[in-house]
Amino acid sequence: MTTMAPLLDPDEPNPVMLENESGNSVFFLTCDHAGRVFPRRLGRLGLPEAETLRHIAWDIGIGGVGRELSRLLDAPVILQTYSRLVIDCNRDPKVPSSIPEISENTEIPGNRSLDETERAARVDAIFRPYHKAIGAALDRRAAADRVTALVALHSFTPVFKGVWRPWHVAVLFNRDPRLAHALAELLRAEGGLMVGENEPYRVSDLTDYTVPVHGERRGLPHVEIEIRQDLITDPAGQREWAERLARLLPSAYAAFLGR
Ligand SMILES: [Zn+2]
Repeated sequence: MTTMAPLLDPDEPNPVMLENESGNSVFFLTCDHAGRVFPRRLGRLGLPEAETLRHIAWDIGIGGVGRELSRLLDAPVILQTYSRLVIDCNRDPKVPSSIPEISENTEIPGNRSLDETERAARVDAIFRPYHKAIGAALDRRAAADRVTALVALHSFTPVFKGVWRPWHVAVLFNRDPRLAHALAELLRAEGGLMVGENEPYRVSDLTDYTVPVHGERRGLPHVEIEIRQDLITDPAGQREWAERLARLLPSAYAAFLGR
């Protein structure tokens, strides 16, 4: 059996940023695709820098929304530091697209023909510590009898493979649509927003990990939220969307409890 040095050196960024854990809110926020750091040992996976700034590398704007929403709700937020091209932290590592060889139309040279050891190094260094941290934080809340609703935050590119996406925001769900439906109703009532439900993506066990594992399996109320990236590229847009969600999420949760 071959063994490999750990992927990350001790001086490299931690894959997990857990902030405001003691916040009072029922909401627990996650940003699986917040970061776009590349481990030193992998270079940029053979990509020109411009590609690493695009949506294929990270969820543009969502870290800013997550942090501001955490502040406004007084909720914990957990953010992942490394580019999702290194390993997608919202996908089961057993699924081939967990480490994509191609993303949208871009080939990722550094992900081509990886062997099991190379894949395992990414799982061990990034995916596993991130999800272990989420699981441990949720365990601590359960042990303290704290009620939790999981909110998985993402952003999507306005144009994918040449096709324009009209939705401003979307709620995604799979087995339990309750909190998602409640939030969608409130988003629609804002006026002027095109609200997707399970489009342009839907939650599934093959394309998602955080909601199926930490929301569904624990029986926690949950919603996955997708915001279109051009709306949250700059801090003003991030603040606007954080303020909107800070206003609507508590009402959506109250409606969920009343159902
Ligand atoms: Zn995402």
